[in-house]
Amino acid sequence: MKSKIWLSSPHMGGNEMKYVNEAYDTNWIAPLGPNVNGFEEDLQLYLNIKHVSALSSGTAAIHLALVLLNIKSGDEVLASSFTFSATINPITYVGATPVLIDSENETWNMSPEILEKAIKDRIFKGKKPKAIIVVHLYGMPAKIDKIMAIANKYEIPVIEDAAEALGSKYKEKALGTFGKIGILSFNGNKIITSSGGGAMISNDEELIAKSRFLATQARDNAPHYQHTQVGYNYRMSNIVAGIGRGQMEVIGERVSQRRENFLFYKEIFLDIEEVSLLEEPNTDFYSNFWLTTIVFTSTESEKNREDLRLAFEKENIEARPLWKPMHMQPVFENYPAYTNGVSEKLFDNGLCLPSGSNLTIEEKERIKKVIKEYFK
Ligand SMILES: *Cc1c(COP(=O)(O)O)cnc(C)c1O
Repeated sequence: MKSKIWLSSPHMGGNEMKYVNEAYDTNWIAPLGPNVNGFEEDLQLYLNIKHVSALSSGTAAIHLALVLLNIKSGDEVLASSFTFSATINPITYVGATPVLIDSENETWNMSPEILEKAIKDRIFKGKKPKAIIVVHLYGMPAKIDKIMAIANKYEIPVIEDAAEALGSKYKEKALGTFGKIGILSFNGNKIITSSGGGAMISNDEELIAKSRFLATQARDNAPHYQHTQVGYNYRMSNIVAGIGRGQMEVIGERVSQRRENFLFYKEIFLDIEEVSLLEEPNTDFYSNFWLTTIVFTSTESEKNREDLRLAFEKENIEARPLWKPMHMQPVFENYPAYTNGVSEKLFDNGLCLPSGSNLTIEEKERIKKVIKEYFK
């Protein structure tokens, strides 16, 4: 059996253990410490954002963001339907109702037109949505300027789920820095990993201070343990943050390597008519190409997503269908949804290709061979 080629696997930079050992040697084995502060500072400088709070996961960050925006039971939160379930799950943690918004064709992310239609309709039905969660899927920037304009017009705060988009930019500005709150993930398969972890970012100092307070069990200032609010145990560990610091030393390289993967695939698919790649619509959009993704566009050809996936599988290469939209998931299908068929079609016909920054030349050759043979 040939060695497995993963969709996206961890890729260490080399200095991670230096930071982890420092934590060990100084006995900073806790959910706070110099690595947590250092990792927050690295992110702050890289993203050009004022404040960062390192947390235990991206999911925890979204949950805390909703708590900070005072989203409560019975409230409605608009969110991208074409995403990973971690975007939507936290909406239900606070007892609120997800209202799912379909995608547009250019970036595969939240359609601004459907968003505005949904806002008007929810207001007409008697309830103004309390927040918008917009996702930058696969690293591709959503049409964030249009979405922010709509959000500002109706005065609804925006949470940007940039879990897949660290290193991506819109008009030279880092994703996650457009909305009131941005969230990041450092899970094992993301562009950089701390083995597991997340962050909340914002230019609002008070919000981030409150995030740190709530993430450490909401302890009031007193010699004994005193609490006037419900707290959470969501802070990042100092060991985990050490891995994150090592990874931040190579984030620039990782973005370049993933963008090179995209160019590698673009060349292969150049003369394959049945398939198109998710591409930056114009130079305002800068994707980290966390994953390179394709969609089968032809209805005449018998070539299809599933057969290509199985051809990869036979060669021990992992490729995965695009996210199944949340409005099609048994757990969320009864929530309100505003759809146009775009994400359903993407799910039926789309595939994520192996996109690790650590793919070797030999592995790329194996991948290329499968594609060439399938379309021969
Ligand atoms: C990974 C991911 C998350 C959740 O991050 P975790 O750190 O795994 O909790 C949220 N949203 C999207 C779009 C993701 O891909």
